[in-house]
Amino acid sequence: MMAGYTPMIQQYLTIKADYQDAFLFFRLGDFYEMFFDDAIKASQELEITLTSREGGSEDRIPMCGVPYHSAPNYIEQLISKGYKVAICEQMEDPRQTKGMVKREVVQLITPGTVMDGKGLTDKENNYLASITNFDDQTFGFAYNDISTGESRVTLLTKFDEVLNELAVLSAKEVVVPSNFDGDLQKKMRERDVLAISFEENSSIELNFAHLLEGLNQEKLKQTAARLFHYLFRSQKRSLDHLQPVTTYQIQQYMKIDYYSKRNLELTETIRSKGKRGSLLWLLDETKTAMGGRMLKHWIDRPLIQQKEIEERHNQVDVLIQHYFERQELRENLKEVYDLERLAGRVAFGNVNARDLVQLKRSLMQVPFLKKILHGMQNEQMNEIADKLDPCEEVTDLLEQAIVDNPPLSLKEGNIIRDGYHDQLDQYRDASRNGKSWIAQLEREEREKTGIKSLKVGYNRVFGYYIEVTRANLHLLTEGQYERKQTLTNAERFITPELKEKEALILQAEEKCGELEYNLFTEIREMVKEQIPRLQALAKAVSELDVLQCFAQVSEERRYVKPQFSNERRVVVKDGRHPVVEKVLNTQEYVPNDCWMDSDREVLLITGPNMSGKSTYMRQIALISILAQIGCYVPATEAVLPIFDQVFTRIGAADDLISGQSTFMVEMLEAKNAIANATQNSLILFDEIGRGTSTYDGMALAQAIIEYIHERIGAKTLFSTHYHELTVLEEELTKLKNIHVSAIEHNGKVVFLHKIKEGPADKSYGIHVAQLAELPAELIRRASEILAELEQTDAQMAPVKKVDEQQVPENKIETPAEQPAQLSFFDEPAAPKKVEPTSKEKRVIDK
Ligand code: ADP
Repeated sequence: MMAGYTPMIQQYLTIKADYQDAFLFFRLGDFYEMFFDDAIKASQELEITLTSREGGSEDRIPMCGVPYHSAPNYIEQLISKGYKVAICEQMEDPRQTKGMVKREVVQLITPGTVMDGKGLTDKENNYLASITNFDDQTFGFAYNDISTGESRVTLLTKFDEVLNELAVLSAKEVVVPSNFDGDLQKKMRERDVLAISFEENSSIELNFAHLLEGLNQEKLKQTAARLFHYLFRSQKRSLDHLQPVTTYQIQQYMKIDYYSKRNLELTETIRSKGKRGSLLWLLDETKTAMGGRMLKHWIDRPLIQQKEIEERHNQVDVLIQHYFERQELRENLKEVYDLERLAGRVAFGNVNARDLVQLKRSLMQVPFLKKILHGMQNEQMNEIADKLDPCEEVTDLLEQAIVDNPPLSLKEGNIIRDGYHDQLDQYRDASRNGKSWIAQLEREEREKTGIKSLKVGYNRVFGYYIEVTRANLHLLTEGQYERKQTLTNAERFITPELKEKEALILQAEEKCGELEYNLFTEIREMVKEQIPRLQALAKAVSELDVLQCFAQVSEERRYVKPQFSNERRVVVKDGRHPVVEKVLNTQEYVPNDCWMDSDREVLLITGPNMSGKSTYMRQIALISILAQIGCYVPATEAVLPIFDQVFTRIGAADDLISGQSTFMVEMLEAKNAIANATQNSLILFDEIGRGTSTYDGMALAQAIIEYIHERIGAKTLFSTHYHELTVLEEELTKLKNIHVSAIEHNGKVVFLHKIKEGPADKSYGIHVAQLAELPAELIRRASEILAELEQTDAQMAPVKKVDEQQVPENKIETPAEQPAQLSFFDEPAAPKKVEPTSKEKRVIDK
C-alpha cells in the first residue's frame, strides 16, 4: 500500500493509522498540514484552500494547512463541530537531523477535553462523560472536567436517567465501549452530545489507581477507569491535578427531567438557548468564575435533605443581616482569579509567570475574606472561614520569587525577583555593570572627540557600536575605530574594548534567561505540590461566593426565607415569578397566592389565553426550586413541602425534537410524569390535550386528572381551556378550581393577572384575537359564530368517573367516546362560587 509514497507521506500514514477518528495536524516547519481525506474535509469545514503535492504516488495528494500560530483558532472551530484533532509535532530540530525528522502525536484534543481556548466559558464546566453498560441493565456513569480536575461517578438503573445526567451536565463528549447499543448512541446525540468516543479498557492502572480509592464497588471503579484510560490516552501529559473520584446518587437531589428543565428555563431559555432570561441569569451575582460554575451546579441539583437546605438558608440569613461585610466580601471576591482552572494549568505545565502572579494576588485575598467572616461573630461564618486555607507557603514563595509585572514570555527573562537567587543576581550584576560601563563610554568618547552627537547604540546584527554623523567624521582619531556599518548620514564603529564588554553582557543575559526559565519551572513544580490545597480552597471560595450571591439577590429583590412543611402544605403569599418580575419591573408584576394541602392536591386553572396561567404555574415550580437550592424565594411568606421531583408539560416553542409530533411529545411527557411522580412530587400540566381534537383532548385531560388525583396524589397544577372540566370539582374531592381574572372594559379585555378561586366564566379568545389586531371584519364574524354556537348550546358535561376497580394499574382508561354536539365556547355547568379572600386568609394565617 505505502510502497510508492515518499518517506514523509509514509510517516504520515503510519501515524494517521492510530488516529482514524481525528484530524491529524501534521507539523511541517511553520505549518500544520493535512493530507488525503482529512485535507478535503478540513478545507470544507474551515474554508481554507485545498492544494495538492507530489507524494511519490501517481496522483497528487490532496493537502491543506494552517500556520502553526493561528492553529488554535482552527482547532477550536473543529472541536466545536464535534471533531477531534490530533496534534503531531516534530520531535527533533530539523536543522540538526539527517533524514526524516521524528514526529509524534503530543495531544489529542476532543470536545470533552479542551483545556483552553474560547470554547471554555468561565462560568461553565466542560464535561467529558463515560458510560459503562452492565449485564444487569444498569449503567455506570462517570464524568470529569479536565480543566478543574473534578470527577464523579454513579450507578443508574435506567437509560433515561443517563440521558438526564448528560443533559444536566451538557456533556460534550461521551466515552463508551465499542459494543455500546447504537440506538442508545443515537439518543445521546439528540441530547446535544457532540462526540461519542470508544474506549475498551476499563481495568485499573497504576497511574490513576489512587484516584479510585474512595470507590467501594467494582462497577463504579470500572466506569471511572474507562474514563481515565481515555483521558490519559488523549492527553499524553501530566494530569496531576485530577482529584479523587467521588460518588453521588441522583436520589440525593430533586429530580427534574430534561424537558422540565428546559421548560422552566433554569439555566437557559428555550428560544435563544442562551443564559439571559433564565433563572441562572437572574441569580448570578457571583463574583468569581468558580462561584458562577458552582451556582449552576446548585441550580442543576436542588437538595432534598431538609437539614442541608436549612443550613444554606441560615448562612444566607447571616449574610443578609451583615450588609457591609457582604459588600466587602464581594469586593474581595472580585479579586480572586479562577483558582480551580489555574491549578489545572499548573499541572499541565502551561501557566506563565503572569498566571502565577494572579494566583498570588488571589491567595492574598484569603486572609481578608477570613477576617471579614470572623468579624460577623457568627458560628456558621466561622465555619466557612475555617475552610478557607490561605496556602501561605505558596503566597510567600510567589511573592519572593516573581516580579509584580512579568512579561508573557518565559524565555526573555525579567520574571524572577532580585534577591531570590544568588547566581541570578550575579549574572544580573554583570550585565548591569556592563551596561553602565557602556553609558560611561559614551560620555568619555564625547569628551575625547568633542562630538556632542556621538552615541553608543545596539542592534541585533552588529551588537554595540559607536555612531558618528558624517559631518563629524574628521574629528575621530584614525586607527582607533573599526568601521562596521555605513548609513546615509552616519557611520558606525566598534572598538576591541567595546566588543569585549559586549560579550560579557550578552553572555550574562543569556545565562540570566536560561536560569530564570529553570527557576520558573522549579517554582511551578513547587506550586504543583500544593494543588490539592488550592482545589480545596477553590471549592470553599465558590461556596461562599454562591451564598453571598443568594443573600445579595434575596435582599435586593425582597425575597423571604421559606419554611418547610411536613404535611405537604403549600402556602405562598404574594408569590412572584422571579424572572418575569425582573424583566417586567417590580411595580407591574401582580403577585399571587397559592395554597395547597391534603384537601387541595390538584388545582385546575382556567382563564383566557395570555392571562398568566403558565406564568403562575412556573412560578410555583421556581419558588420550590429556589427554596431547595438554598435561596430565599419571591414571596412575602412561603411554606413549602420538600418536593422530590418536578414534572412539567408546558407548551414549548420547539417541540419537534427527533421528528415526533407535538402531541406525541406531550403524551411522552405526560407519561413520564405519571410513571414517576410520587405524592411528594410537583406536576405542572399546561393545556394537556390541546394537540388533538377537542373530544379526544378533553377526554384525555380528564382521565389524566382523575388518574393523578386517585392514584398519585402529587401536588398538581393543571391549566386547561376546556371549561367543561371545571365541573370535576364536584366529583374529585381534592381538586379545586382556580382561575385568572380578566375584566372587559369598553369591549376590550384587560388582564388582571390575578388568581382567584373558582372557575373562569367566559372565554376571552375573541378579545385576545382583537388585541392581536386581526381584521375587524374577522373579529365581527367570530362573534357572530360564537353567538350562534351559544344558541345551539349542547350541554357538555364530563363523563362520570369510572369505578376505581375498573381502572387497570398503570393504564389510563379513556372514557367512552360520546357527546354528540359540543361547543368549545360553552360555559361550564353551574360554576361554584367560592369566596376567595376569606378562605385564602384562613389558611395563610394558620
Ligand atoms: P397564559 O399561560 O395564560 O396564556 P402567560 O402565563 O403566558 O399566559 O402570560 C402571558 C403574559 O402575561 C406574560 O408574558 C407576562 O408578561 C404577563 N403576566 C403573566 N402573569 C403576570 C403577573 N402576575 N403580573 C404581571 N404580568 C403577568
